[in-house]
Amino acid sequence: MKKNKKVILKREIEKPIKVWGKQLKLTRVLLILSVGLIYFISLYIEIKTLTPLIIGIIPAILFIISLRLYQNRIVYFGNYSIECSNAGDLYLTKLKGDCPTCGGQLKIVKKSNTEYIQCQNNTEHKFYLEVN
Ligand SMILES: [Zn+2]
Repeated sequence: MKKNKKVILKREIEKPIKVWGKQLKLTRVLLILSVGLIYFISLYIEIKTLTPLIIGIIPAILFIISLRLYQNRIVYFGNYSIECSNAGDLYLTKLKGDCPTCGGQLKIVKKSNTEYIQCQNNTEHKFYLEVN
């Protein structure tokens, strides 16, 4: 594992995610989704048809994504990613950077206290994050 090089990773897009002009917070999203899940489950218990469970898949998937975001602070969707700041604010970002070793696409890995850049082709290609 080499982490001696510094590479530049640009954020081509960095857009705060807002709902009705208000910055979206991860804790708020988790709270709303858990309420939504409880609603669909109790509706299912009450009316005993599968419809609320089928509709409930949507908040369930969003809930899983939010939990992953809570753990990893960043979730990738193809070229785009959703990042969570230390304050819990959500951002839509697009990262761009090439691995200096093999030219592969770079991505940020965030773990509890550390943050580093990793190549998508080879996880052995690790670099320090240079903030610009
Ligand atoms: Zn690489």
